[in-house]
Amino acid sequence: MAKLHFNYSVMNAGKSAQLLLVRHNYIENGGKVLLFTSAKDDRSGVGKVSSRVGIEAEAYPLTPEENIFDIVQDSHAESDVTAVLIDEVQFMTPEQVVQMSDIADYLDIPVMAYGLKNNSLGKLFSPAIEEMLALANEFNLIKTVCHCGSKATMILKYNPDGSIVRSGEVVETGGEGRYISVCRPHWKEGNIGPRARQAVFDAGYGTRVVCQTCESVFPAIFGDPEQAGDCAAKLSGKSIEGYYGSTIADGCVFEFANGVPADAKQGVICDACIRKFLERGKLLRVSSFFDNDPPRPEEADDGVPDNLEQVTEKAW
Ligand SMILES: [Zn+2]
Ligand SMILES: [Zn+2]
Repeated sequence: MAKLHFNYSVMNAGKSAQLLLVRHNYIENGGKVLLFTSAKDDRSGVGKVSSRVGIEAEAYPLTPEENIFDIVQDSHAESDVTAVLIDEVQFMTPEQVVQMSDIADYLDIPVMAYGLKNNSLGKLFSPAIEEMLALANEFNLIKTVCHCGSKATMILKYNPDGSIVRSGEVVETGGEGRYISVCRPHWKEGNIGPRARQAVFDAGYGTRVVCQTCESVFPAIFGDPEQAGDCAAKLSGKSIEGYYGSTIADGCVFEFANGVPADAKQGVICDACIRKFLERGKLLRVSSFFDNDPPRPEEADDGVPDNLEQVTEKAW
């Protein structure tokens, strides 16, 4: 008995590439392969299966009204069909999935269907997928990894600005939404990972943190325009206070003991600028939240806190 195989995956797992490789192997061995895709999926042109690695092939674009069993049976009557390959099975109808099982059972031709099991809401993608899970007799997960390195089993949909889409239309092929495959904990968390976040930022979205002194721009960590990685400190008056995100000033207070230099601007200041002023000897660290015994500047006779120098040497 021929089998109905369901090769399922998340997005960008190389599903189409694997399908095209299987097709190539059949053809190389003299087989006759019928390749179907959904007429709904027109991302790479109607009637085409293409993969991100560059290979592509013509495919029959199946509409919801068509009977795939009849099409295969007609072709099989002309000359023997070795295998039937189907891409984007999640866009087909449950009836067509039953027809696929009929191809295996009554024509004795193996059917390999490829598709997405889950949608971005964490539910089965479509009634066709429910039917496929009920009828297929071979299951194969095409593996890919989350940004954390764990196996990716879920799909996150996000807007161009990086916000996560948790409702609405999921049976779409193009559209404004972007998709990323992640592990289940990161799906629950809505964490698209550092590379996708950077791409969102590079595209001009997301909150920007600007160093007022050197005008460098950084992507905000929590959407706060004063807090980024490597830029999470603020100069107000003659002191600089650092926050989470700064690699040099987190939890620290610095002071321009001898007046604020002309090239230091009030407001957000980045770690590189703080480092520059420290190297020039203009800036002194007066306290740190992380010190066991945070030194407090005490007024000495000359008006300059007498523990400044000592603290500076210890820390830098
Ligand atoms: Zn993860
Ligand atoms: Zn700067």
